[in-house]
Parts: sequence; structure tokens; C-alpha cells
Amino acid sequence: MGKKYTVLLADLDNTLLDFDLAERTAVSRLLMQYGKNPDKKLTDAYSAYNDSLWKRLELGEITRTQLIDMRFVEFFKANGINGDGKSAAALYEKNLSECAPWIDGAKELLNKCRGKIRVYIISNGTARVQLPRVRASGIDKMTDGYFISELVGYNKPDPRYFEKVRECIPDFAPDKTLVLGDSLTADIAGGAAFGLDTCLFDRYGTYTENQAVKPDHIITELSQIYKLLDI
Ligand SMILES: [Mg+2]
Repeated sequence: MGKKYTVLLADLDNTLLDFDLAERTAVSRLLMQYGKNPDKKLTDAYSAYNDSLWKRLELGEITRTQLIDMRFVEFFKANGINGDGKSAAALYEKNLSECAPWIDGAKELLNKCRGKIRVYIISNGTARVQLPRVRASGIDKMTDGYFISELVGYNKPDPRYFEKVRECIPDFAPDKTLVLGDSLTADIAGGAAFGLDTCLFDRYGTYTENQAVKPDHIITELSQIYKLLDI
């Protein structure tokens, strides 16, 4: 019997690359660039403020552009940091584009897939942040291609995003494709709605059964996917 899956669609942030760590590193670097000591109190304050802005975005109270423009203005004011918040946002984005730490086991997974399973990156994000990270990590050379939502024109879970992916992958077979990601709403819901099998990477073990979106498989460590992929 042949392999069930021939294609793996893998999310980037917090699936293959540690975005949480990248974000902390980029903020710490920014604070130093503005002459501040990036201690835990200050970086935690930033995280809390940033999270509150993302919640407001989800509620539709602000737009993504407003979020990006606002994120350092208020934070700088509240913490006595001198500097233009808008320039800080650009500098932060540059810092972030240079941070591409791996998730434990991600490099091994890509190496194991080589020659056996085709791997494509499916990522929501902007090209100017994601492309340098894909290159800095070497993921561009270790995979068969990547789909950055800004370049695709749609974000996961929009079916039009997955439609583009389908069009671009040679010999795409939905029943032989597995979606791997850490986001229930973007990766799992998007993949499932497109008729693909899904695997949730539940790194922190926080998934609970009583959620609307049900992944076909759940793993808490990347190596647990070897069995599913038969590699
Ligand atoms: Mg993710």
C-alpha cells in the first residue's frame, strides 16, 4: 500500500518557526535601539498592549493598518520612551524579518520529508516580513514552495487562498494532502472547509474538544507526525 499523503501543507509561524520567540527578540532589539533596557517588565507590558490591540482588531474596532501604526505610539508614551511610534513600527518590522528561530523538531521534519513527501509552506503574513524569514531559515531550499498570503491575495482560511494553492501545486490530490498548523481558525478550519485532512500542532496542549473546528489529527510534538506521513 502506498503512502496516504504525498503533499504536506505546513503553516510557518508557531508551526515550523517560533514566532513567539521571534516577536520577543524583535521587541527587545527595538527597545535597545531606543536606549531602553528590554527587561521582562517592559517586554511583558508591550505584549499585553499588543494583545489588546489584536483583540480590538478581531472585534472590528480598528484596522490592521491602524494596529501597526498604533502599536508603538501609545506604548512609547506610556513607558516614557522618546521616539516616533511610526518609525518604530517600521524598525520593529525590520527586526522581525531578521528573526527566524526554529520550532523544536521542525528542521528534522523537513529533512525527513525530503524525497518522500512534497512540502509547501502556507503562511498568513506580509511579504516583506515573511520572505526574509523563509530565506534566513533556509526553509525556501528545504521545501517545494511557499504561499505567503499577501502575495496570494487572500488569507487563510479563505477558500480562495486554498484554491490558489491547489492551482499552483503540480498533481494536487486533495485526498492525499495534509494540512499542518497551530491555528484552529486559519489552518484547520481553512483546510477542512477545502476538503483536506488536517493536523493541529497543539504545542502547548491547550486544545479542548468543545470547539467548533475539529482537526482530524492532533500532535503536541512535530515528530508525532512521522507516523501519519509514513516517513
Ligand atoms: Mg501559525
